Amino acid sequence: MAEFDYDLFVIGAGSGGVRASRIAASHGARVAVAEEYRIGGTCVIRGCVPKKLLVYASQFAEELGHASGYGWTVEGARFDWGALRDFVASDVDRLERAYTSTLDNNKVEHFAERATVAGPNRVRLGSGREIRARHILIAVGAWPVKPDFPGNELCITSNEVFHLPELPKRVVVQGAGYIAMEFAGVFNALGSQVTVVNRSDAILRGYEEALRERLLAITQARGIEYRFGNPIQRVKQQADGSLLVHTATGAPLEADVVLVATGRRPKTDGLGLENAGVALGANGEVPVDAYGATICPSIHAVGDVTDRVQLTPVAIREGHALADTLFGGKPRTTAYDHIPSAVFSQPPLAGVGLTEAQARAEHGEIKVYTSDFRPMKNLFSPKAERGFYKLVVDGATDRVLGVHMIGPEAPEILQAVAIAVKAGLTKAQFDETIALHPSMAEELVLMR
Ligand code: NDP
Repeated sequence: MAEFDYDLFVIGAGSGGVRASRIAASHGARVAVAEEYRIGGTCVIRGCVPKKLLVYASQFAEELGHASGYGWTVEGARFDWGALRDFVASDVDRLERAYTSTLDNNKVEHFAERATVAGPNRVRLGSGREIRARHILIAVGAWPVKPDFPGNELCITSNEVFHLPELPKRVVVQGAGYIAMEFAGVFNALGSQVTVVNRSDAILRGYEEALRERLLAITQARGIEYRFGNPIQRVKQQADGSLLVHTATGAPLEADVVLVATGRRPKTDGLGLENAGVALGANGEVPVDAYGATICPSIHAVGDVTDRVQLTPVAIREGHALADTLFGGKPRTTAYDHIPSAVFSQPPLAGVGLTEAQARAEHGEIKVYTSDFRPMKNLFSPKAERGFYKLVVDGATDRVLGVHMIGPEAPEILQAVAIAVKAGLTKAQFDETIALHPSMAEELVLMR
């Protein structure tokens, strides 16, 4: 009898776990994965993918608003939340099937049940069955955290927001990070009255300041209200079913939905890592080295559960590198510099590399170039919203250290320019590139 049932047992079939499983199997490893909910994980089932579909859907409202300026008469346009919700759910089903086929096609066995760590080389399934594995990969992701206040059970998180029975008329969003700003934008565009309440006095802390200021101004002009330095103190249900939200100061807010988006914590409760001698970090994360290895040589972790960078492409890269390291004869780490990121707010913003403040702290002498422009597409918009791009350049070497953008299609443009920043190109090389006219992206090579 073989010493182990599998070479690799993966707990969690999200982005990182599925990629690690598939690549490990392609290297010839015998692989199994356990998933207690749905194959695909947060990104596919209740995150990036369904969120982006809601963003696209809500943007039609703006497009229809512009259309008359371009000669279109749009009569009888109506929005049906139920139709959108069901379409999004059916696309999530399709993607889950695609992910499942990927596992099947790569001969990765999957168990539709919870799995916990029973020892350095032992996994216990929900059914009670025990499995012996040469390596165990923890890829269980993270889970939304709700601050502790009376009535928090009446509030939803991003897990539930895709299943609302109807479009809420009034939404209170607690938090002003990625998830809060994306859903505030969706509900605002779809016609809900939106109030964002946050504990600090800022949105998207950590993002380039000029972009945050622009997003705040534009979203306020679009009708989103903000209460800063003012987290929720309690929520009560009223006789008509609606919610009354009390914050530290100001009149209570009436809401049909309260969405809490105050960060996500590694989902390690009850995972049994102590049975392998692996102690969790302060936020419940699994501490790992650059190769994804824990203190126990047979236990590894990738993705949100390690609480490093909570982004899907990073989890995928970590999962791939781990499989190559363990089974491909190619030990690899993941580089965490120059990770592009975007917030699919309305308008969206995106950035790569150092912010102006970070560059000043790290490089001393820097040069900053900006472009504040009116996107051509907005010509007929009554809102007159402007885009804003910033290049942060090292004064000594002329290297572009960071690019930050807010405006239509900013994430699409940023992905391409991230290649140039990662490659270490200089501002002079940006300038040598001939503009593609007329476009918004041409601003990147025209800043002087
Ligand atoms: P974020 O960390 O982005 O934002 C959390 C927000 O909640 C902040 O505004 C923070 O306030 C506030 N907050 C945190 N803790 C508390 C608390 N105890 N009480 C009250 N307020 C609190 O978290 P999200 O939940 O929005 O997203 C989680 C992660 O998911 C992101 O960090 C990102 O990595 C990922 N994500 C990425 C997306 C993308 O790439 N487009 C989209 C969605 C999620 P403050 O900081 O102002 O003090």
